[in-house]
Order: sequence, then structure tokens, then C-alpha cells
Amino acid sequence: MDTLVLLVEDNEVNRYLARYLLEHGGFTVVTASNGLEALEQARARKPDLILMDIQMPVMDGYEATRQLKADPALQSVPVVALTAYAMPHERERALAAGCAGQIEKPIDTQTFIAQLRGYLGPAQRTDPAQP
Ligand code: MN
Repeated sequence: MDTLVLLVEDNEVNRYLARYLLEHGGFTVVTASNGLEALEQARARKPDLILMDIQMPVMDGYEATRQLKADPALQSVPVVALTAYAMPHERERALAAGCAGQIEKPIDTQTFIAQLRGYLGPAQRTDPAQP
């Protein structure tokens, strides 16, 4: 069964790279480019995991995460923040908003998928090496 990741990122280059890595890691990907779109996509698609950028127009990642965690239909979906290396305070604020953890940007292409799998249940980790 496909594991669906909702990738929320306003920067087109970052979004392209993360999507590429996710798809090559065997995940199905849907994207959003701000927090409001993220809420709409999450409600429509019920993803297995949400990767959430913090600094975004319209609605930032903190507010989007708070609203996701206040929604009984979505509060069990793990939200992993994409935090900027240059902004160490983002990590604490992301956790306070309800994120399960964080992955630092710039993304380490070698470890990104392994980091993400750590937030999924064993049945959702989609190893492309297995049938
Ligand atoms: Mn951003």
C-alpha cells in the first residue's frame, strides 16, 4: 500500500528536491505551498505523514500544525517540521506547535529518507528494495 506524504514548502527549489527524494524513496507525494493549502490537502487526502516548512506566506508552519493537531480527524498524522539550520529557535517552536520532530534544511540528500522513515510506523516505511 502506498504511503502518502504531504510535502508543504513554499520554496520551489526546495520543494522540487524533496519531492524527487521522496518519490525515489518509494513514497507517493502531494504538495502544498503554504499552510492554508496544507490544511486543505490534509483534509482531502489524509496523508500518512506531513513534512512542514516553517516560514511560508499566507499561513506559516506553526499555525498550520496547531490547526492540524486541533482537528480530531488529522491529529494522529505525524507532522515533521522542515527547519532552517540558520534558525535554531524554529526547532523548539515547531515542537511546541505539535510537530513530532524536525528535519533540518538544507536537506541532507544522503540521510533525508532515513530521517523521515523514523517518523513512520513499520508498515509505512516503503523500502523500494522489497517487493
Ligand atoms: Mn519557506
